[in-house]
Amino acid sequence: MNWVATVVCVLIFARWAAELWLSNLNRRHVLAHADAVPEAFRGIVDEPTYKKSVAYTLAKARFGSIEETYGVIVLLVFLFSGLLPFGFHFFAHHHGTSAWSMAAFLFAVGFAMSLPGLPFDWYGQFRLEQKFGFNTTTQKTWWLDRVKGLALAILLGYPLLVLILKIVEWTGAQWWLWAWGAMIAFQLLMLVLAPVLIMPLFNKFTPLPEGALRERLLKLAERTRFVANSIQVMDGSKRSRHSNAFFTGFGKFRKIVLFDTLIAQLNESELEAVLAHEIGHFKKKHIPKMLLFSTFSSLVGFYVVSLLAKQDWFYRAFGFETTHIAPALLLFTLLSGVVMFWFSPLAHWWSRKYEYEADAFAKGVMNEPQSLIGALRKLNEKNLSNLTPHPLYSGFYYSHPTLLEREAALKG
Ligand SMILES: [Zn+2]
Repeated sequence: MNWVATVVCVLIFARWAAELWLSNLNRRHVLAHADAVPEAFRGIVDEPTYKKSVAYTLAKARFGSIEETYGVIVLLVFLFSGLLPFGFHFFAHHHGTSAWSMAAFLFAVGFAMSLPGLPFDWYGQFRLEQKFGFNTTTQKTWWLDRVKGLALAILLGYPLLVLILKIVEWTGAQWWLWAWGAMIAFQLLMLVLAPVLIMPLFNKFTPLPEGALRERLLKLAERTRFVANSIQVMDGSKRSRHSNAFFTGFGKFRKIVLFDTLIAQLNESELEAVLAHEIGHFKKKHIPKMLLFSTFSSLVGFYVVSLLAKQDWFYRAFGFETTHIAPALLLFTLLSGVVMFWFSPLAHWWSRKYEYEADAFAKGVMNEPQSLIGALRKLNEKNLSNLTPHPLYSGFYYSHPTLLEREAALKG
């Protein structure tokens, strides 16, 4: 084994060990508080719900650790069994190294790598989520979702791959800059097309019916000068009892979307507070700021690939006897996660900072914190959220502050 392969293995095992260690830390912390509802949550959750949330947290943690370990094995097999160079030679031999053929190679690897996880996805939905009463997906919907996802990947992902590989042929040494530009253009196009063409493939969207709730939410939009084309209800209950709210689209195409499950769980003032929180994200420009950052990181990513693609040792470490760009793109994609993992706490810290800002905005426009607190309590209860995560665990993984942290900030 050469030094590159050794470094990669160390990185893969380091991530795996860190994840299992954090999960175990969290599990013990949850168990230590499992006997009775902790002081801070008395009167918020009842005993049976609390016990159920503990059981759900532990079951998800156990399942997650097994899935993680399995994922490591799958990744090692793909990286070091010679499967990838074999695939590359197969496509190069039969179809040449044109952009079309190499994009097909990348697509085929992506498809093959998505297969081993399917049984886990299935089990997670139809056994684990089912057991705790969250699953509402039928087998038919679940399989149709996979087929639609694959069709979209063929229609949108494959042409994008061809374009990027063509750009490498056309533009020479500066290809990474042009490829990055093409990627950004594609992502912007998706931001426009997704709400109109893609999301309706998976869910039904209907306008929120006339009535007190609609009046109330439109008044909030007016009060906060939030321009929205319409308020839509999405049939989230088609797949799960978990609930959510978000908005999509630009300018006058902007749509506010509420899950039907959310409307069923919250009262009118709580729904208004949730929407105020979402509008807070918009007003504080959280989305463009995050987009700008991810745009910058993908520029760095493309540049790193362009450097790696010049190194013989990079290809040889994984059994490739070529310096074609396609394997470099593939290997970078497979390996970036083991490095980015260590930066994820920073990203999550940043995300939590924005959640606090959106909460503060909601409190301001509602003139009281109680509606949002009520909504958060109900959402934590209905989703059986872990109420007692280990601080290191939530600090590392949570994109949202915990219920207690948010309540403390709202009351402060
Ligand atoms: Zn938020």
